[in-house]
Amino acid sequence: MLSRVVVLVLAVVAATALGVAQAPQGAQSQGAIRNRPGADRAPEFPPPSILDYKPRSTLVVPQHQVPRAKYPVIDFHSHQPAPITEAAFDTIVASMNPLNLQVLINTSGVSGDRLVDAMKALRSSKHKDRMVQFTNINFNNVGPGFGQRAAQQLEADVKAGALGVGEINKGFGLNARKSDGTRLKIDDPELDPIWQTAARLNIPIFIHTADPQEFFQPINYQNERWLELALFRDRRFPSPPNPTFEELMAERDRLFKRHPKTTFVAAHLGWHANDLARLGRMFDTMPNLYSEVGAVLYDLGRQPRMAREFLIKYQDRVLFGKDSYQPDEFPYYWRVFETADEYFDYYRDYHAFWKLYGLDLPDQVLRKLYYQNALKLVPGIPRAGFPR
Ligand SMILES: [Zn+2]
Repeated sequence: MLSRVVVLVLAVVAATALGVAQAPQGAQSQGAIRNRPGADRAPEFPPPSILDYKPRSTLVVPQHQVPRAKYPVIDFHSHQPAPITEAAFDTIVASMNPLNLQVLINTSGVSGDRLVDAMKALRSSKHKDRMVQFTNINFNNVGPGFGQRAAQQLEADVKAGALGVGEINKGFGLNARKSDGTRLKIDDPELDPIWQTAARLNIPIFIHTADPQEFFQPINYQNERWLELALFRDRRFPSPPNPTFEELMAERDRLFKRHPKTTFVAAHLGWHANDLARLGRMFDTMPNLYSEVGAVLYDLGRQPRMAREFLIKYQDRVLFGKDSYQPDEFPYYWRVFETADEYFDYYRDYHAFWKLYGLDLPDQVLRKLYYQNALKLVPGIPRAGFPR
């Protein structure tokens, strides 16, 4: 409702300025922002800005806060220091316990000597069952022989204790350059030895490709991420000069299909949380593909029926992940997954102008989402703390 009112106000202002009463066309917006027929009205008061308008909801419905997850959770998408100091680890574990977060996968992956140091810190800690570490690959200046060298380093890093690769960040595909100055495409064959080695070592590749599709679109009043784009310069990816969203998705999908024996985990539901049928088709055609829900809760919570059906159908393919580690944000995830609550707030207004609804997931699905799928994909995760 908030979004409709804001859009209505903006549309009225825009229509007045342009002298047209035409609503922008679009499957979701058609009809929803039309002024009352025949009434050429404008607000009698100055309209509020997008930042000011925060109406109090008068809706009275049952509310269930969920400060602690129903089952122990593995966060597949966490960013932590590597190496971590024991003091920092103490603080993190103290915040994990009340949330029922059992294990963090540190997907701020590090390689070589730094990985050795990171593993030393984890193994000597009294919290060694609470975090595991991934390695990573630096994709700058890829040239002939790069793939072989990176594959060798990957093998050494796995021997040193890394349990996966990632998070390969969005720069891969978007702006990483080859040694010849051209853009490194996600499916560049030079990198094949890396993916083949990961398959042989049976470790997952955790990869973030592109960003929400609206980040690649014009920043206008029809863009549902307008505020975020206006706030963060580094989230704007106009094409050109950037590749388009669909170009990146096509490269990514070719990579996943060309290496069916390699396990890929697409971060952020592959940025298809707004089009779950598309992600479903990917799961259907790519048995080696998994995904996680980091930072896309706003999209699941605005389509509770579709999202529930999707997470039940693909219950073996989706992992819990959070991305930025903010302890007070996790309960929003528990509430969306575990309750049937209606019309409650999300934690960041620049991600979503709408309210969230609970999916009321069955227990079996919750257990897979929270920890069982991650234990299957990353068998090296310590089993202490999980039901047998
Ligand atoms: Zn991340």
